[in-house]
Amino acid sequence: RRTRVAVVFGGRSTEHGVSCVSARSVLTHLDSTRFEVVPVGIAPNGAWVLGTDDPKALEIRDRSLPEVPENGTAVVLPGDPTRRDVVLLEPGRAGDVFSGIDVVFPVLHGAFGEDGTIQGLLEMAGLPYVGPGVLASAASMDKEFTKKLLAAEGMPSVPYEVLRRDQATLTEQQRERLGLPVFVKPSRAGSSIGISKVTDWADLDAAIELARRTDPKVLVEKGCVVREIEVGVLEFPDGRVEASLPAEIRMLESAAADWYDFDSKYLDADQACEVDIPAKLDDELSARIRAMSVAAFHALDCQGLARVDFFVTADGTPIINEINTMPGFTPISMYPKVWAVTGVDYPTLLTTLIETAIARGTGLR
Ligand code: ATP
Ligand code: MG
Ligand code: MG
Ligand code: MG
Repeated sequence: RRTRVAVVFGGRSTEHGVSCVSARSVLTHLDSTRFEVVPVGIAPNGAWVLGTDDPKALEIRDRSLPEVPENGTAVVLPGDPTRRDVVLLEPGRAGDVFSGIDVVFPVLHGAFGEDGTIQGLLEMAGLPYVGPGVLASAASMDKEFTKKLLAAEGMPSVPYEVLRRDQATLTEQQRERLGLPVFVKPSRAGSSIGISKVTDWADLDAAIELARRTDPKVLVEKGCVVREIEVGVLEFPDGRVEASLPAEIRMLESAAADWYDFDSKYLDADQACEVDIPAKLDDELSARIRAMSVAAFHALDCQGLARVDFFVTADGTPIINEINTMPGFTPISMYPKVWAVTGVDYPTLLTTLIETAIARGTGLR
């Protein structure tokens, strides 16, 4: 029979809508001769429901992002590693509809999806899943720990300060150390949600407050970007790890912001930025960035896939900004695009991700 894949999307994070749009692309590009899909939606309040597989229901419309509705169904994942089921509880219908799930594809971004939590649930249930495990997901989601683990492998990142719950704002000394501009970010988030560029210290506290709506732990980083480069990393079923060709995002004069904010990513991409795939880099820098991407993948103990985001500073030095363990899979997302240009088309990419997940299994294998 075909491999049964539970595609999980939506979720409790601020990236709920982006996850739905990513899932739409995954559902339309999965090779249906090999894979049977069980769509599982997670509503914003955390309820697990039988999701839609209708692409129309998962589109951005009038600048508003799709949402998983609570539809009266309830999907339950038994925490029993001998079962490999997701059970659909639906009034008037028998349960246990989707037994024998082979693998889960958590197309979830941000908290409760890309941060080790659902990965832990799936480990407990004995269900193989696409993407990195618990530790790598948690460490890559948290920008403080991403930087610490990269530093341990000799890869510096952008200078930063951490504001924990008990510190309201930066001290004078911290301000002097970073200088303006700074980027204020939730430590655990994505899609640029909650991030501000601050060019005047008078605006710092409002930016911290905005970031804290997403995460009580906030990072303030020195603004440094000259060029923005992104690389896809992919693990093959035999354990081989490869980096894609690098891509470059160039913000246009017509963009509303001078950095890669939420609207530039998803709503106004055409006017806001241009993407070079591959990036126009000299061969040596390109090779260096690709090697750093694989090194970062291992530094964070990743499996399956990751997208490594870089800055190239004025003197031509590449610095890793952050690592995304479930990067966007939307039609305009970088991860599937860089792999297409590197010679792995979208359906082959998805097949590889799923086969790698099955080959790895769960537990300490
Ligand atoms: P995603 O997961 O969608 O890639 P994110 O929410 O994790 O995004 P970052 O990638 O850290 O956030 O930052 C988003 C954007 O903000 C960057 O692509 C860049 O344009 C800008 N930015 C972030 N940090 C800095 C910095 N230190 N200096 C200059 N620009 C920055
Ligand atoms: Mg990110
Ligand atoms: Mg992200
Ligand atoms: Mg990023």
